[in-house]
Amino acid sequence: MRPLIATIDLAALRHNYAVAHRCAPGRQAFAVVKANAYGHGLREVVAALDDADGFAVCCLEEAQAVREVNASGRLMLLEGCFEAVEYQQAAALNLDVAVHSPAQAQALLSAALSQPLNIWLKLDSGMHRLGFSPAALREWHARLAATANVAELNLLGHFACADERGHELNEQQVEQFLGLLDLEFDQRSLANSAALLTIPAAHMDWQRPGIMLYGATPFAELSARDLGLRPVMSLTAKVIALREVPAGESVGYGASWVAQRPSLIGTVSCGYADGYPRHAPPGTEVVVRGQRVPLAGRVSMDMLSIDLTDVAGAREGDAVELWGAQLPVDELAQRCGSIGYELLTKVTGRVPRRYVES
Ligand SMILES: *Cc1c(COP(=O)(O)O)cnc(C)c1O
Repeated sequence: MRPLIATIDLAALRHNYAVAHRCAPGRQAFAVVKANAYGHGLREVVAALDDADGFAVCCLEEAQAVREVNASGRLMLLEGCFEAVEYQQAAALNLDVAVHSPAQAQALLSAALSQPLNIWLKLDSGMHRLGFSPAALREWHARLAATANVAELNLLGHFACADERGHELNEQQVEQFLGLLDLEFDQRSLANSAALLTIPAAHMDWQRPGIMLYGATPFAELSARDLGLRPVMSLTAKVIALREVPAGESVGYGASWVAQRPSLIGTVSCGYADGYPRHAPPGTEVVVRGQRVPLAGRVSMDMLSIDLTDVAGAREGDAVELWGAQLPVDELAQRCGSIGYELLTKVTGRVPRRYVES
């Protein structure tokens, strides 16, 4: 078997969900499990978070997968239905459904449903991606409040800059949201992980933590560790070949890395087809024998090379942590001009996931 594995710590996941809960005591939290639970495996994550107040996903297909593991918990479609027929399926699966556009609202009014749905009217409070203007939302609130297809009528909002503390848009978005609370809503939800962690005024009835559950940070300046979060995924490979490279010789595609001294080069069983960022710049590190070592040259599809010259006792078969407990995914992401979200969701299907309880 190829030595590359993503180890998923389900105890850490549950710890992080508990942290999310503690940030907004007495409120509820949808665990956001879209995109295969940010790459961690939807079924296993949903099963591990069996006690969660609810779950949130991007689309009906993801909701169906959640329902195979969790038959009855609250489950929100964050972008609502993409086609009118999906309302019937949403009702059959007992989903909470976002409604962000006039077309969606119209289709909801016309649908013949087996049971009414919990609806989350989405406010465009300033991100300008999805949602109604405050005036349009007031109109649709009036039109949907008294219809047979609606059970709960709820309010949903989303921040554009919650990861930047003190950004002026945060306050404006909270104010837009609060400005609608004279209307009668059953439930309200505004906060993602970043807002849950740093904008108490955004804590409504339901939070929507995603990235923090997986032990990564939404912030550039605050680490997951600072936030009391535990890393959930460790991506580990092995040194599958070892060679001495004389000074002046190059390593890898493009011969971009040239040994400045007689070097010990390890070849590692992980590449960009596994989700490791191909654009990792020179100096990007991995961990071998508890020690940080730099990449040597470009990342290949199935392999990458590392400079083991300074690692005493390095040998073939050594474990290599690409990210995880010893090297936060956020740190690698930052170096590569990306974010933890992207690296985690891009771990590809050929990387086996192993589930542990630490
Ligand atoms: C993905 C998503 C979230 C979760 O965001 P995190 O930054 O991962 O906490 C919350 N709300 C909506 C609408 C989302 O699309």
